[in-house]
Amino acid sequence: MTAKIIDGKRIGQEIREEVGLEVARLKDRGVVPGLAAVLVGDHPASRVYVRNKIKACQSLGVHSKLVALPQETTTAQLLQCISDLNRRDSIHGILVQLPLPGQIDEQPVLLAIDPAKDVDGLHPMNAGALALGREGLRPCTPSGVMEVLRREGIPLQGARAVVIGRSNLVGKPLGLLLLQQHATVTFCHSRTRDLEAVARSADILVAAVGRPAMVTADFVKPGAVVVDVGINRVEGPGLERLLAEDPSLRPRYERNRSKGIHSILVGDAQWSSVSRVASAATPVPGGVGPLTIALLMKNTVQAARVLSRK
Ligand code: NDP
Repeated sequence: MTAKIIDGKRIGQEIREEVGLEVARLKDRGVVPGLAAVLVGDHPASRVYVRNKIKACQSLGVHSKLVALPQETTTAQLLQCISDLNRRDSIHGILVQLPLPGQIDEQPVLLAIDPAKDVDGLHPMNAGALALGREGLRPCTPSGVMEVLRREGIPLQGARAVVIGRSNLVGKPLGLLLLQQHATVTFCHSRTRDLEAVARSADILVAAVGRPAMVTADFVKPGAVVVDVGINRVEGPGLERLLAEDPSLRPRYERNRSKGIHSILVGDAQWSSVSRVASAATPVPGGVGPLTIALLMKNTVQAARVLSRK
């Protein structure tokens, strides 16, 4: 069997087009959705992520505001900034790019965001609403995975879903979303016994671990759907090991190397072996990755719709 490659770029584009139509409808009613991105310090990857989010806003006609604060910002200063954004009518979504510098306490910061503007869906009010099956803003990456499964017509009711990873950002909310759609859900984590055997019981196997190419064909039941959430940039000795284990990655690495990039981006699944057993799978890059920003835009528009009715 050769797995169908699920095209996350196409699905992300579809969602963006739908969001664009919704933005136009809101503008007809005099509402311009607005997103504030708060970036503290100069973490290079965070700068890239925030820049991409702002670009997505611009391409969809969503008002965006970048709040860049210095590395030495205190928790109190960041809380003040969030309180200002909470009060601003032109801002419907607030995201604080993580990780924050070490001196800042993350919990009070996430708690300070108005839950109605919490477009990352990480506020305990939204996490609680998800657990209770009530309306609220859902975390973007898990929602993106659900969009992939829905748009690919993968049946969830009664299906066995195994989620490897139980973080508050990905694994846990994703398991709850699958449960809401009547899947029978098993969470796995670093202390799960017989991980391969548990994973092999899955009709839908999700890897959200952060370990390059950990999930091999031995984890996959023939015909299962594999969703790879992992994004791992591998370089150095780890890269040599990876290329030795999966020579099919070498051409991609050579292309990177010719551009002066001495690393490669891989998921948590080993595509070359998993794709021989699964019926469909998301690749890395080009699978779940492009969905996260599309869902951030969708959440911002949802927040604007709800707040403008108040
Ligand atoms: P975390 O590090 O917060 O969580 C990782 C989870 O994997 C933990 O629950 C951990 O278990 C579990 N785990 C670690 N090692 C093993 C193991 N050997 N066997 C079984 N389980 C294990 O990561 P995130 O959830 O934030 O992210 C997961 C991956 O998804 C990363 O690669 C990240 O880069 C990617 N990601 C991708 C996004 C996208 O846009 N596509 C967005 C966000 C994340 P335990 O709880 O026991 O420690």
